[in-house]
Amino acid sequence: MAKRDYYEILDVKRNATQAEIKSAYRKKALQYHPDKNPGDPTAEGKFKEAAEAYEVLGNEQKRARYDQYGHAGVEGAAGGFEGGMTVEDIFSHFGDIFGGSFGGFGGFSSGRRSRRVNKGSNLRVKVKLSLKDIANGVEKKIKVTKYVACKACDGTGAQNGTAFSDCSTCHGSGQVTRISNTFLGQMQSTSTCPACSGEGKTITSKCASCYGEGIVKDTEVVKLKIPAGVAEGMQMSVSGKGNAARRGGVNGDLLVVIEEEKHQELIRDGNDLIYYLYLSLPDAALGVPVEIPTVEGKVKIKVEPGTQPGKILRLRGKGLPDINGYGKGDLLVNISVWVPKKLSKEEQQVLEKLRESGNFAPDPSREDKNFFERMKSYFE
Ligand SMILES: [Zn+2]
Ligand SMILES: [Zn+2]
Repeated sequence: MAKRDYYEILDVKRNATQAEIKSAYRKKALQYHPDKNPGDPTAEGKFKEAAEAYEVLGNEQKRARYDQYGHAGVEGAAGGFEGGMTVEDIFSHFGDIFGGSFGGFGGFSSGRRSRRVNKGSNLRVKVKLSLKDIANGVEKKIKVTKYVACKACDGTGAQNGTAFSDCSTCHGSGQVTRISNTFLGQMQSTSTCPACSGEGKTITSKCASCYGEGIVKDTEVVKLKIPAGVAEGMQMSVSGKGNAARRGGVNGDLLVVIEEEKHQELIRDGNDLIYYLYLSLPDAALGVPVEIPTVEGKVKIKVEPGTQPGKILRLRGKGLPDINGYGKGDLLVNISVWVPKKLSKEEQQVLEKLRESGNFAPDPSREDKNFFERMKSYFE
């Protein structure tokens, strides 16, 4: 969107003096002030526009660049005004001019500032899970050492929970108002009371158990329901189970980081599991029943006679459940054949005989008609 000319926005001549510019901005700012035009987005837009124009024209260097190059010359010079600047930002930016807010309109920022709510810090714990836990989901009870609300003072920090009085600085409102004289007239600015941090109360006698903090260290057993299919490094957030806040407020969260215990025999690959099965030479050639470990215990399978190393048997659904409920992974049995490194005299003779028979010579094409094409494709 094309920007309007800054001189036009403030309604001043191009040779206006700094005093004229300041005065013109004051006029516009009062005219479009949000408290005078509540809920009027057009007025708020004009208010911001005037602030942006003043940001440039009110500064001789930026004004000179603007005179020479137009808006392009001050791109970025207007800082956060491009787009996202809020009315509050403008007041804080021009704090020295406004004194924080306008008096006479009932105080600008007082109604907008809400009382600060303390939030306890988040607590991070690690939970170690076996593949079996992950396969089925699990309920874990973990002991957490953390800050909890002090029972003696009900988390208030005041003796017996009652030793309070209204803050003498802000008289219980939690805010302080300052009035100052500026060129725009009398300004009223409101901010959080520094004496009570906005709580409005001060403790007259501190609770002896928590030294006035309202929180004490304690251990709590937290029950966690961990869904099936989680993986190493995943983080779950349990709302409100973290540290309690000082003197009342909202509890932090408990962040649970999943750690996966290594399985003795199975390797996880996403939702699939991999098992490396070594067969002896005779077993691979003759076929053999074998037991395969799964997360739920052993299952029996039959290895067919003439099974080649490198073959992968897929046990459907014997992997891990998907965390989003998209079915289950498989257990992949990756077959290798073990070749003995030392042979007895007898074994040597038997194998010599087998070699002479010719049937033991490798001939992948007999097993797999597309073998050579497949091999070729590996190297392309
Ligand atoms: Zn206490
Ligand atoms: Zn106060």
